[in-house]
Amino acid sequence: MKTPLQILENYWGFTSFKPMQEAIIASVLNDKDTVALLPTGGGKSMCFQIPGLLKEGTCIVVSPLIALMADQVNGLKDRGIKAMHISGGISFSDLQTSMDNVLYGNYKFLYLSPERLQQELVQNTIRQLNVNLIAIDEAHCISQWGNDFRPAYKNITVLRELKPLVPFIALTATATPEVLEDTIKELNLELPAVFKNSFARPNLAYRVRKVDDKLYHIEQLLKNNTGGSAIVYVRSRKSAVETSNHLNQLGFSSTFYHGGISKKEKDDRLAQWQTGSIPTMVATNAFGMGIDHPNVRFVIHIQLPESLESYFQEAGRAGRDGNYAQAILLYNEYDKILVKKQFIDALPTPKHLKKIYRKLNNYFQVSYGEGEFEQFSFSFTEFCSTYKLNTLLAYNALNSLDRLAVIQLSKEFGRKSTVQFLWPSEKVLEYFSGDITTSVIGKTILRLYGGIFEMPTGVDLDVISKKTGQSVSVIISVLQKMERDKVIELLLKVTDATITFLKPREDDKTINVIAKDIEALNQKKRKQVASVLQYVQNSKECKSVQLVSYFGDVEAEACGICSVCASQKKTASKSEMKLISEKILQLLEENEMDARELSEKSTFAAKKMIHVLRLLLDNGKVKLNTKNQYYIHS
Ligand SMILES: [Zn+2]
Repeated sequence: MKTPLQILENYWGFTSFKPMQEAIIASVLNDKDTVALLPTGGGKSMCFQIPGLLKEGTCIVVSPLIALMADQVNGLKDRGIKAMHISGGISFSDLQTSMDNVLYGNYKFLYLSPERLQQELVQNTIRQLNVNLIAIDEAHCISQWGNDFRPAYKNITVLRELKPLVPFIALTATATPEVLEDTIKELNLELPAVFKNSFARPNLAYRVRKVDDKLYHIEQLLKNNTGGSAIVYVRSRKSAVETSNHLNQLGFSSTFYHGGISKKEKDDRLAQWQTGSIPTMVATNAFGMGIDHPNVRFVIHIQLPESLESYFQEAGRAGRDGNYAQAILLYNEYDKILVKKQFIDALPTPKHLKKIYRKLNNYFQVSYGEGEFEQFSFSFTEFCSTYKLNTLLAYNALNSLDRLAVIQLSKEFGRKSTVQFLWPSEKVLEYFSGDITTSVIGKTILRLYGGIFEMPTGVDLDVISKKTGQSVSVIISVLQKMERDKVIELLLKVTDATITFLKPREDDKTINVIAKDIEALNQKKRKQVASVLQYVQNSKECKSVQLVSYFGDVEAEACGICSVCASQKKTASKSEMKLISEKILQLLEENEMDARELSEKSTFAAKKMIHVLRLLLDNGKVKLNTKNQYYIHS
């Protein structure tokens, strides 16, 4: 049998492992259940791919992200390794063929979504298959205390029943101690070996600033961004567009990214940003998954995030190359009120859920004791207007019922058709004047949705129908005509969402069973928001220590470069000095510069910079010319 290192060299061409990979692989090879907490970029996939290759048989990988599965499978195939993933929406006979191939085709890796495990055909195949390892990617998705809870992850336990002797490896990049404990319990892991890499990022300076003029501060920060990329995170689509426009006016080349732009726009903008042709991306949290860009120097948040989990993930996109980078959170007093309003006040209580659940049953005329697995098509707007419900509260309540597996909402739920006008308003009005129906519908849309000239805006066809007295199908045909005439860009979502009842109707009883879970989830949400507020307000403890200890890493040392550490001492810490001198030498490599230029082109305090310059002068690394400029002495 080959060694893990030989496999690593053979297939990947690396000659050494990343921290902890080797120990994790050894644990798996000893047939122990294993948990690996590795930060993104820490080489998670090799922790199961290498043992999977070493052992005889097939490794099953469960992952929530179809795109990521496809990527990994292609990566394995490129290395000449037989791997397969079952994509969504394939026919039963195709699935049967695939399963036969897995059984008799010597595949080393089978990637599955958790939903697939429900299928009997898949279960039967696994029962017959010689499985050598079961790898659960993004394992924290099984914990409903985590941010990314996916009910389908509960299906994974079926693998333990089918293959009681095969070891599990659970992998995640983010888990608080409670989530980790819950994950281990939910997956039925047996006394697992837990491997945790430190979450500290020594080259990333976390900074928190209370400011009134956020744009001015972004401007000051981005001025220092020479040659690298930046992300500015905002909370709404509107604010993404506005902030990006503003930055462009100030002369910073930027673009924006949010869930409402088309797939092509997303791809184009991501590429422009990743190649550096547009250095700054202004984005909502839709920008994240699958971004691998090493040269990000700034991640700036201009609104408070909803949890430290998401903050840590977003901020962590800075400095992947190991060079100095900054994660800056800008906030003001009003943001604190806003975050409570947005995330706490809208939490559904058991009482409220009972009300919504009863209305839902009445709406679809489900009788008492009936309804289990019944499916209905569903218009949210109509439901809300029938019972005069507050839409935000009703929306959250339905999502909670979905999360707690009382009902299941289809993917279309909450999605709207989007419209953006491409012409200036005078020209649009002129266009309307040609046809009365177009005019009525078009003007109604303009009145209802501000900002529709600037960006794709979600529109509600039911509402437009009510306001104009025209049927939805007439509205659609008018919109489609405008699209053909290139007046608007249109993304049409006509399929109604569907709702499936997963439990028989027992009114309050149905909710009482889960009342405890609801309270616990709300409590969790409140705690998360409180932790964010504490993070921004605690100016005594190192920001890095605050963050990593939240994730259970209690032994971390003060980083020396965050806003707290920097304010606590006049002179730079050792690690900071190292970063400063690296930056100075890098800048001088390009050009001779005086102290002021150097300080402008970097982001360190002038005092510390001068201190380091003096040291570099003293030991002859740099020299001064007659114009008082420093240059590298070689
Ligand atoms: Zn610090």
